[in-house]
Amino acid sequence: MIPVQDFKKEVKEWAEEIGVEPDEIHVREMTKKWGSCSSRGRLTFSYALLNRDSDERSIAIVHELLHLRYPTHNKMFKSMFKSYLEEKGIDPNILI
Ligand SMILES: [Zn+2]
Repeated sequence: MIPVQDFKKEVKEWAEEIGVEPDEIHVREMTKKWGSCSSRGRLTFSYALLNRDSDERSIAIVHELLHLRYPTHNKMFKSMFKSYLEEKGIDPNILI
């Protein structure tokens, strides 16, 4: 399990790479999802992610960060999602 602070650092590093700026980053208990993104740029991640490995965390992080740019899972969202992860050698389908 990684500390919340380290996780938030990972989110910030990815945000820089993608070129987006989340207003706030929160980690809390979530039952059905790995994360969410409000229309005002507030990102919330599931506490359970802290127990997942680095590649799995990246998948959830990139997903929510991309919502700051694309609110829906449209074609552009999907193609950027795949390309950011595959660039790092991460299979985008491993986080279920
Ligand atoms: Zn989504």
